[in-house]
Amino acid sequence: MEKPNPFEVALRQLDECARILKLDPSVHAMLRLPMREFHVSLPVRMDNGEMRVFQGFRVQYNDARGPTKGGIRFHPDETIDTVRALAAWMTWKCAVMEIPLGGAKGGVICNPKELSTGELERLSRIYIDRIWRYIGPEADVPAPDVYTTPQIMAWMMDEYSKRCGSNQFGVITGKPLAVGGSAGRDEATGRGGLYVIRRAANDLRLDLRRATVAVQGFGNAGFALANLIRGSHGSRVVAISDSKGGIYNEYGLEPWAVAEHKAATGSVVEFPNSRPVSNEDLLELNVDILVVAALENVITEDNAPRIRAKIVAELANGPTTPEADAVLYRNGMVVLPDILCNAGGVTVSYFEMVQNAYMYYWDESAVQQRLDKKMTEAYLSVLDAARKYSVNMRQAAYAVAVERVVEAMKTRGWV
Ligand code: GLU
Repeated sequence: MEKPNPFEVALRQLDECARILKLDPSVHAMLRLPMREFHVSLPVRMDNGEMRVFQGFRVQYNDARGPTKGGIRFHPDETIDTVRALAAWMTWKCAVMEIPLGGAKGGVICNPKELSTGELERLSRIYIDRIWRYIGPEADVPAPDVYTTPQIMAWMMDEYSKRCGSNQFGVITGKPLAVGGSAGRDEATGRGGLYVIRRAANDLRLDLRRATVAVQGFGNAGFALANLIRGSHGSRVVAISDSKGGIYNEYGLEPWAVAEHKAATGSVVEFPNSRPVSNEDLLELNVDILVVAALENVITEDNAPRIRAKIVAELANGPTTPEADAVLYRNGMVVLPDILCNAGGVTVSYFEMVQNAYMYYWDESAVQQRLDKKMTEAYLSVLDAARKYSVNMRQAAYAVAVERVVEAMKTRGWV
């Protein structure tokens, strides 16, 4: 079946929220469109001497609550509508977390796995060349997303700083520690997800020490969560997958060892003492917690009826379609929605911006404590809204977020 268009999914979620909140139609109309977007051409000299032109985007969705914020994705399947959806989700995510930022997202159509380090650096720098006038610590602050790294953030910060003629660490987050990065940013998305899962498990009286976990997607976020839930709670991570396939062991896998195997071979597949499992089958395993940590549209109306986990934790953006949402809710599953569950990343990005502005850096335990407080407050406000409106956790998270964005728009006199 054809995958739904992510921006249409994002708009359907918003429309549903508008209905729940009885939103004024003109306010609703304003929230359905990105405030501003950029389409850029990116000529790059390849190592073989050829010039190749890549295509890139930056969408600044809504800045009512503060400078726009959101990552840059390098992916062969990137589309403008994916970037629009991700920018809208960033707007809601920052509002749910009550951090003073709006939402944006960037993307480049490319396959970074096929680019040399030099090509990747030239591509990163030309992307900033194209948009540098429209970003900045007080305007729009990018960060990493799928297939972009701290090193890429360092090149981009450097390129922007050169244009400005001064060091501008605050223009981008997710940087390496040597150039203004924050302690704990690397694992922040996974750690934030863990804090929310811990709350939800407690509410369900699910003992994490005995819980089984399957993780779909083993990039930065999926790895960090798997490693932390195993390391700090002793949960049994029985399955892990990446874009090339998955592995299963009913007695549990050690995520750090799987990560070492992936670093050496390029994938989790053929990890010793495991049997293969496809990405599709992994989603339907009989586990307590299913972590979806890859891309959009993996839980659809097709497979939703067969999902058996008690908790579905969305570390990816947009992994569940609206049809699937309805099925999971009907079947009594707790879905921890992306704009809450994966918000640890942008929250520590916000901490990074604060540290850059003050030129004073916090230690890792301060970052963790502040992250825990933010995630807990957000979880509780979403839970409150779920009760108030008798809706599921995604609808509740949207209600919290949209109310906050609308309040800012009204207070500024926009609507
Ligand atoms: N790309 C991450 C996200 O989707 C982090 C964004 C950020 O740190 O600005 O939330």
